Amino acid sequence: MTTLVWFRDDLRLADHPALAAAATDPGGLIALFVLDEVSAGVRPLGGAARWWLHGSLERLRDDLAARGIPLILRRGAVGEVVPDVVADAGVTRVLWNRRYGGERHHDAALKERLRAGGVAAHSFPGNLLFEPGAILNGQGLPYRVYSAFWRACLAHPAPAAPVAIPEHLTAAASQPQSDTLDAWALRPTSPNWAGGLAERWTPGEAAAQARLTRFLDGGTAGYAAGRDFPARATGSELSPHLRWGEVSPREVWHRALDAGADVAVFLSELGWREFAWHTLFAAPDLHLRGLNAHFDAFPWETAPGAELAAWQRGETGFPLVDAGMRELWQTGFMHNRVRMVTASFLTKNLLIDWRIGEAWFWDTLVDADAASNPFNWQWVAGCGADAAPYFRIFNPVTQQHKFDRDGAYVERWAPDALLTPEIVDLRASRVRALAAADRARGATPGSPSAE
Ligand SMILES: Cc1cc2nc3c(=O)[nH]c(=O)nc-3n(C[C@H](O)[C@H](O)[C@H](O)COP(=O)(O)OP(=O)(O)OC[C@H]3O[C@@H](n4cnc5c(N)ncnc54)[C@H](O)[C@@H]3O)c2cc1C
Repeated sequence: MTTLVWFRDDLRLADHPALAAAATDPGGLIALFVLDEVSAGVRPLGGAARWWLHGSLERLRDDLAARGIPLILRRGAVGEVVPDVVADAGVTRVLWNRRYGGERHHDAALKERLRAGGVAAHSFPGNLLFEPGAILNGQGLPYRVYSAFWRACLAHPAPAAPVAIPEHLTAAASQPQSDTLDAWALRPTSPNWAGGLAERWTPGEAAAQARLTRFLDGGTAGYAAGRDFPARATGSELSPHLRWGEVSPREVWHRALDAGADVAVFLSELGWREFAWHTLFAAPDLHLRGLNAHFDAFPWETAPGAELAAWQRGETGFPLVDAGMRELWQTGFMHNRVRMVTASFLTKNLLIDWRIGEAWFWDTLVDADAASNPFNWQWVAGCGADAAPYFRIFNPVTQQHKFDRDGAYVERWAPDALLTPEIVDLRASRVRALAAADRARGATPGSPSAE
C-alpha cells in the first residue's frame, strides 16, 4: 500500500491530520506539492507570496528529508498532475487537508475520480477552527454579522486538539520524479526586490512555532489596548505563517488559551480570519464581486493612473498612508490599523475601486490570503459582510494623531512624507465620496444616512 499526502496551504508537519493518518499505515509514503497556476478559478499568487512559498517549501523539504521522506514538486493542473503521480507510483490512497476557496471544486472532482478508479481518497479538516457547514444561522445560511457568527462559534464544541507529528514515517520505495524548487523561479532575481522581506521574515514551520512561542511567552496582556498602535509590537505577526499553514489555527487556539489577560480579544481576531473563510466558502468570487449589490453601480474613478501610482508608492502626502504603503512595499506587511486607513483612503478619498487596491495588496503582502484580503477590502469599502458603513470614512490625519501621536511609525517608514504635497483635499473628497455613495444607492444626496 502506498499513500500519497498532498500538501497545499498546510506546509507543516505538526497538527497535519492527513500526514498523521498516513502514518497509521505500514505502507510507504509519497509527499507531494503541486504548483497549480492554470486550473480554472485558481488565482495566481502575487510576487511576495511566491517569495514566501519558496522559503516555506525549502523548510518543509528539509523537515521531511530529516525523516527520510522526499518532497515531490510538480507543476500543472492538479486534476492532471495528481492522477499522473498516482498512476506512475502505484498509489493506493490519497490524503489531504481541506481547502475552502474556489479550488475546492477541483479537489471534489479529483476525489470522485480517484475513488472511481479504485484509489482511496480522504480529506481532513485542519486549516480552520470550525468547518463552514457547521456554523450556520437559524435559516441554515452563513452568518453575515461577525458578532453573531463568533457567538455561534464559541457555543460550538471547541476546536479539536492538535495532532502530534507522527513519530515514524516510511518513504515509499519508489518515488516519482520531482521538479527542482529553483526551476520554479518563485524568488525575484533581476531585480531582487525581496531584500526587505528576507530581513523581516523567516518562512517555515520552525519560524512559525518560534514566533507563536515568543508572542505567547510575552503574554497577551496589553494586546487589546496596544493592537491599534502601529509602532508598538503588540500583534503576533502570525498572519503569513497562518496563510501558508505553517502553524494550524487549532494549535494557535489551544496554546493561546491560557496566555493571560486579553486572550479572548486575540482569539476573536482569529475569529475574523475564520469569518472571512466562511464567507469565501459561500462566495468564492469574493475578490471580484461585492457582497452588497448596491455597489455594483458605484461610480468608481475610471482613469485612476497618477493617484493610484502615488498611493502604491506611498507618495500621497498623508504621512500615515505613505508610511503604511512603504512598509508594505519594503517588508510585505502592513499593520492592521494602517491597512484600514490606506484602504479607506484609496476607496473613499480617491474613489478608486476596492478591487484595484485588493489586487495591489494581493501582489505585495506576504500574508496575501484568498479570504482575508478581499473580505477586509470589502469591509473597508462598505460592500462586504458586516461592513463598515460607507459614510464612515477614516480621516488619515486624525488617525495619525490617535494611533501614531509621537510619529514613531511615520518616522520609521516615511520620514520625508511631510514634504510631499497632498494629492487630494480631504474635505472635498469626503463630500464627493458621500455623494457617490448616495448616487449608487439611488438615494437623495445629503440624506440623513450620509452622516
Ligand atoms: C484592507 C485589509 C486587507 C487585509 N488583508 C489580509 C490578508 O491578505 N491576509 C491576512 O492574513 N490578513 C489580512 N488583513 C487582516 C489583518 O490586517 C492581518 O491579519 C493582521 O494585520 C496580521 O497581523 P498579526 O498577525 O499581528 O495579527 P494579530 O493581531 O496577532 O491577529 C492574530 C491573527 O488573526 C487573524 N486576523 C487578525 N485580524 C484579522 C482580520 N481583520 N481579518 C482576518 N484575519 C485577521 C490573522 O490570521 C492574524 O495573524 C487585512 C486587513 C485589511 C484592513
